Amino acid sequence: MKKVDVIVIGAGAAGLFCAAQAGKRGRSVAVLDHAKRIGGKILMSGGGRCNFTNMYASHENFLCDNKHFCKSALSQYTQWDFISLVAEYGIAYHEKTLGQLFCDDSAKDILSMLLSECDKAGATVTNQCDVLQIEKGDSGFTLQTSKGEYQCESLVIATGGLSMPKLGASPFGYKVAEQFGLTVKPTRAGLVPFTLHEQDKNVLAELSGISLDASASCNDISFNENILFTHRGLSGPAVLQISSFWEPGQAVEFDLYPNGDLYEQLHKAQQSQPDVLLSNALAAFYPKRYVQTVLPYLGIENKPLKQYQGKSLNEVAQAFHQWQLKPNGTEGYRTAEVTLGGVDTDFLSSKTMEAKDVKGLYFIGEVMDVTGWLGGYNFQWAWSSGYVAGQVV
Ligand code: FAD
Repeated sequence: MKKVDVIVIGAGAAGLFCAAQAGKRGRSVAVLDHAKRIGGKILMSGGGRCNFTNMYASHENFLCDNKHFCKSALSQYTQWDFISLVAEYGIAYHEKTLGQLFCDDSAKDILSMLLSECDKAGATVTNQCDVLQIEKGDSGFTLQTSKGEYQCESLVIATGGLSMPKLGASPFGYKVAEQFGLTVKPTRAGLVPFTLHEQDKNVLAELSGISLDASASCNDISFNENILFTHRGLSGPAVLQISSFWEPGQAVEFDLYPNGDLYEQLHKAQQSQPDVLLSNALAAFYPKRYVQTVLPYLGIENKPLKQYQGKSLNEVAQAFHQWQLKPNGTEGYRTAEVTLGGVDTDFLSSKTMEAKDVKGLYFIGEVMDVTGWLGGYNFQWAWSSGYVAGQVV
């Protein structure tokens, strides 16, 4: 039997960070993970460069049923605190866009930093360890695992969400929550590409590989980044962002000329080059292959510009400004970056992440009903929630 002060289940971003914090306070800490390899998601993140935080992170960049829940943790450990730590380790980084900070070299640098922080703090990390049973007694928790029995005073659940099962994702954390009487909000895939109905897919798959500036809107929120046509459907940052807000059956509206007035541009072209075909005029703003495919798909006739009389030129422009698409669904957890929903924050302290009615039990990171936008916000939540729990476990 092994006895420690703190057990953290899940050696991902939140779990490792929390373990290091607790270890620094002199607590004995064991981190247990069932995966063969530690930190798989970190290594894959940000296309291998880990978008480790966002300079503009605030509680407004998170989906959570309680809009105020994230405020305390995000202010106790901010993006600037994590940036200082990254700098302390001499990890070179850059802003890619919109405040998103990526490693110059590799996500391996972030994982090595976390493991080194754990090592310095004396926190041990054990992989390939299945937790079979958890029991709570008066003085703490007893865990039966595939590597023997453990006892601890504080138990931190950092097992993440359901996305990317190949990297070790499991519903374990939700089951522990339910075991101790906490509610779990329904989960679904977030930051995930859309799949399309057959009639859209048959046409749009031909555009595979084309990326366009666009804003995507749904349920009173818009994201202006870009979209990418793929052979399975639609992806790209604006699509991933809006997928977290989209409900099945709804349409998403895309503005495919988001930073200007397409009618004004077409009208100018009509004045200066009345004999030019619409497709050629549009080719000034979009790839030719896109224009050729999309005009018939949108039911727009391709004629010389002078033939668009009355409101018809404006109608063409509006078809690009307000393209409505009803996705068939999403690619699901297989490719989703995050899981929406999770352990209900009403049952947790926003200051420490401790379960309000179960002394010594904590939930941190993505397992909770806190989901960040695309852009480094999810890792910031892992650091901030892991930090605050790490100060008190
Ligand atoms: P995880 O990092 O998922 O860690 C959970 C750990 O728990 C895993 O090690 C898992 O093996 C372990 N575990 C699960 N079940 C059990 C069990 N039953 N027993 C023991 N251990 C268990 N976010 C960003 O902010 N920036 C990015 O660049 C970014 N890129 C991403 C790219 C991809 C491909 C994906 C999938 C996600 C990306 N994310 C990104 C999201 C981010 O990775 C997660 O939000 C973050 O890792 C959550 O941290 P976590 O510690 O809560 O969970």
